[in-house]
Amino acid sequence: MFVKCPCEKCGGHLEFDQTNNGRLIQCPHCGQSTTLVVLTFYSRTASPKQVACLKFHGFTNVGNLSVSEAGALIDNLSNADSLEDYEKMCLRHKQWLKQRFILYPELYEEERETEVFQYLPPHLHQYVRSRVVGASERLTNNKIHEVITSIDTRDRNWWLRNDRDEVFFDELKILFPGCCDGNAPISVVKSNLRRSNTGKTETTNDADDPVVFHNSESSGRSRRRKISVSTGDGCLVVIVLILLLTLLSRVVFAAFR
Ligand SMILES: [Zn+2]
Repeated sequence: MFVKCPCEKCGGHLEFDQTNNGRLIQCPHCGQSTTLVVLTFYSRTASPKQVACLKFHGFTNVGNLSVSEAGALIDNLSNADSLEDYEKMCLRHKQWLKQRFILYPELYEEERETEVFQYLPPHLHQYVRSRVVGASERLTNNKIHEVITSIDTRDRNWWLRNDRDEVFFDELKILFPGCCDGNAPISVVKSNLRRSNTGKTETTNDADDPVVFHNSESSGRSRRRKISVSTGDGCLVVIVLILLLTLLSRVVFAAFR
C-alpha cells in the first residue's frame, strides 16, 4: 500500500510503499536525506517545519492542516501561473532556505550542523587556497572546524553572511597564522595586475609581453612598474658583461706578459 509523509527537511510531499517504512532516502524536492515514516494518528497534524515553511510563504491558518494537506501546499509552491510569479516564488524560497536558520534556530539545528560542518568546510578550504599558497602550516579539517566553532561563539549566523569567506579567513589568521603565511597564487597576482590596467581585459600573453603591454592603454602606474622590471634586467646584463670583459682582458694580459 502506498502512503504519504513529509520530508523532514523541507516538508515536501513523499509518497512511498509502506514496506519502505523507516528507510533513509534522498528527498526529490530538496535533495537532503530524510526518513520515510508511516504516520500514526498522532503525527497527522502538519509538522512544525511544514507550518514554518508555509507561514514564511504567506499562508495563514496553517496550524490545523494535516501533514498531507501541508505537504500538498508546499509541493504546489512551485506551480505558478506566470513566469513572473514563478521567479518571485523561487526568490522567496531561496530567502527561506537562509531565513529559516535565523527565524527558527532550534527547529533547524540539525540542518545547520550539516550545512556548517559538512558542506561549508570544503568550500572554505578552496577559498583559503585561492588566497594563499605555500603556507608553512597545513590547513586540516580539524583546524577549519576549530575556526568555525570559534566564530560560532560570537555569531551563530555568520555563515549566512555574504562576506562569510572573509570572516573565516580573518579568524584563521588569528588562530592559525601559519596557515595564512604563504603567497597569493600566481593567478591572483596576474588578475590583479590585469585589473590595474584601465579595466581592459587582456589575454595572459598580452599582459606578460612588455612590448604589447606598453602599446596598450595601460595606466601610468602599471607602465612604470613594468619598465622598472625591464630596466633592472638590463642593468644586470651590463654588469655581467663588464665583469666578463675585465676577466677576459686579465687573461689576455697574463698570456702576453
Ligand atoms: Zn525535502
